[in-house]
Amino acid sequence: MVKTKVVDDQTYIDKSVLCDIYQHAIENYPEECCGLIYGSELRKCRNIQNDLYAEDSKKYPRNARQGYTFSFEDMMFLNRNLDGENPVNIIYHSHPDVGAYFSREDYKRAVYEGNLIYPVDYLVIAVEKNNVSSSKLYRFKKNEFIEFMEYEGYQELMCEKINRKNQTNHNNAVSCIGVV
Ligand SMILES: [Zn+2]
Repeated sequence: MVKTKVVDDQTYIDKSVLCDIYQHAIENYPEECCGLIYGSELRKCRNIQNDLYAEDSKKYPRNARQGYTFSFEDMMFLNRNLDGENPVNIIYHSHPDVGAYFSREDYKRAVYEGNLIYPVDYLVIAVEKNNVSSSKLYRFKKNEFIEFMEYEGYQELMCEKINRKNQTNHNNAVSCIGVV
């Protein structure tokens, strides 16, 4: 299903957003994480796949290590947001220990009767214990997903530094509110 590999140095996702997503993937390991990117904003979503699996493992044979399903609230957000001014442009999820590729299951969830269900690109994150080795962005073209971009991993992007900085800023903001 993945046809061509087009890698260039275009920055399509903000580095800080990407590092935040990598952190999300690492925290959810060994389960899959999922979320939404809209411009420079990020929504970390709740993967309810384990709940579905517990409810009916025949109907939902995958647990959260093998799949993802957005929570009802996240789906509501997505549907509302797509009509807004800053619509979601990327849906992301992680692949624990199996690398970044666009699976048959991923395709089934993204496409209905030959058309994209949501007008977005898909980011797949290759996560291992305490690390993200890379991530790949897929775009739907002529019935197939092409690998549109490949991003460096957690260490190459020096995410630890970026995330720590974000954390500090966040703490500062909280203490400012306290003072006010
Ligand atoms: Zn997948």
